[in-house]
Amino acid sequence: MQVKCVLCDIVETIEDYSLQAKRLRNRKINMYLCNSCNERIKDRTLQRISTGKFRFFEEKKNEDELI
Ligand SMILES: [Zn+2]
Repeated sequence: MQVKCVLCDIVETIEDYSLQAKRLRNRKINMYLCNSCNERIKDRTLQRISTGKFRFFEEKKNEDELI
């Protein structure tokens, strides 16, 4: 299936039966990030954790337990 990155509008093709495609179809995730944006966000998140300003949201955890 074709997916569009929400950050840079690049269109990529991903495997129809990949976990990511399945999640997009089931609306478990409703946005797609290309690899480079993914890397960028991961880097930023790691930086935030290392500065100690990163917060984990408890609400998210509760949602996951229901699945
Ligand atoms: Zn992107």
